[in-house]
Amino acid sequence: MRRKPVRAIFPGSFDPITNGHLDVISRAIKLFDELVIAVGRSPVKNQLFTPEERVQMIEEIIRQRRMKGVSVESFDGLTVEYAAKKKADVILRGLRSLTDVQYEFQLAMTNRAVAGIETVFIMTSEQYGFTSSTLIREVASLGGNLSNLIPENVYERLQQRFKKRTPSEGSRKAGSQTGG
Ligand code: ADP
Repeated sequence: MRRKPVRAIFPGSFDPITNGHLDVISRAIKLFDELVIAVGRSPVKNQLFTPEERVQMIEEIIRQRRMKGVSVESFDGLTVEYAAKKKADVILRGLRSLTDVQYEFQLAMTNRAVAGIETVFIMTSEQYGFTSSTLIREVASLGGNLSNLIPENVYERLQQRFKKRTPSEGSRKAGSQTGG
């Protein structure tokens, strides 16, 4: 009997997408038939890129790397409502370390309690275990070399974003954020 295709959504801020996210995505596409990268539109404190810019960068990567079965869009509101709208079978989340587990565990339990949807976790490669969008924004604002941690197109966007700022302006804008 043919099995039903499994569709996963990968929700997050992706401000910006990093090689850690992409590592999780490349592992996930071996497990799921369809993967929708879902960029949250909810205003986060001190966001660097607009949802449209974040989606555009991810679209470029999907195209360049010819990722089959992967798409990207932005969404508003509750992840579980978006998952239901997309008829997603699972929510995908990435794990870097034990520190991520506590928060992700609560989130997954809540999503299952309110909407009955399962969350699947994929652990990133050790080399990206310390990579976060927050740190990327901070290091980029200070002009650091990030070429191993983010894709080329994201690196270029970050350089454009910070080239007109002085380092202290950049770090003020990019810093003092929590999460991702
Ligand atoms: P959110 O604000 O929802 O945490 P993020 O864009 O920061 O959005 O992260 C989206 C997902 O990707 C989360 O599950 C997060 O734990 C995971 N993630 C973030 N950075 C990495 C990384 N370096 N390796 C693996 N997973 C990651």
